[in-house]
Amino acid sequence: MPFKIDLHAHSNISDGLFTPAELVAHAASQGINILALTDHDDVSGLAAAREAAAEHNMQLINGVEISVTWKKRTLHIVGLKIDPENLTLKNALDSVRVGRDLRAQEMGEGLAKAGILDAYNGVKLLANQSIITRMHFARFLVENNHAKDAKSVFKKYLVKGKPGFVDHQWMNLEQAVSLITASGGTAVIAHPGRYDLGSVNMLELMHEFRSYGGTAIEVVTGSHTPPQYQQFAKIAHQFGLMSSQGSDYHGKGISFMEMGRLPALPSNCVPVWQDWPEVGMFAH
Ligand code: AMP
Ligand code: MN
Ligand code: MN
Ligand code: MN
Repeated sequence: MPFKIDLHAHSNISDGLFTPAELVAHAASQGINILALTDHDDVSGLAAAREAAAEHNMQLINGVEISVTWKKRTLHIVGLKIDPENLTLKNALDSVRVGRDLRAQEMGEGLAKAGILDAYNGVKLLANQSIITRMHFARFLVENNHAKDAKSVFKKYLVKGKPGFVDHQWMNLEQAVSLITASGGTAVIAHPGRYDLGSVNMLELMHEFRSYGGTAIEVVTGSHTPPQYQQFAKIAHQFGLMSSQGSDYHGKGISFMEMGRLPALPSNCVPVWQDWPEVGMFAH
């Protein structure tokens, strides 16, 4: 591959560790030429990322990752090439962030009942004005010795049935896809291998997603295994969907994979970037 592309990564505008500019510099150091910054429910890091990208001769793709409730499960939809100035999108993300803060307060109350006091305030400090995600709670709980690492802390405190879990209602799938496409973007189902859907629901999800105007799925991503690359390449082909790839990088120690290490898409995939001018300049 003549260029390296990563279409899924987080900065400290959401639950990543690097500032947007640091993330771009890190991506450049890993050989990435085209990067999408896809913070959860927030587009306010894109301007700084774009400035930094220009210094590194890198193409920055405007992105976002939106949480969705579908059949009582949480799914993530990545929007690529969205317009961060689009008012409808901005307003919708504003209200998602208000909901996130209320949820975080409830998570803190749940943890207090389990004997862990003041988690909300601790997490608020860690998040430093950014949105609060379960990743911030995971960091707080590990730092305060309630679990040994990010993986075990989720199991013990932050998933359904555990004290820090709150059953939150996110927006619906149609809304998320419409917000993305109406702002000029492409909707992508993030890490479909992580939802534990079963094959019938998985096919239903693809069908429904496509009917709302969704056009791509992540085939190669940090949390997928090589057999899942093949599985989702096949599903993409079956539904006429394009394929995306992205590390879902969050920072050192809290990521599935370092940036720049993803394998290429399986050869039968149609890359979501096939007609993008940002890529054309690298594809000699
Ligand atoms: P939230 O959107 O607040 O529910 O937080 C979800 C974030 O927590 C994801 O974007 C990941 O960064 C992280 N996360 C969720 N589940 C896990 C897990 N099992 N292990 C590690 N990180 C996780
Ligand atoms: Mn995250
Ligand atoms: Mn995600
Ligand atoms: Mn992500």
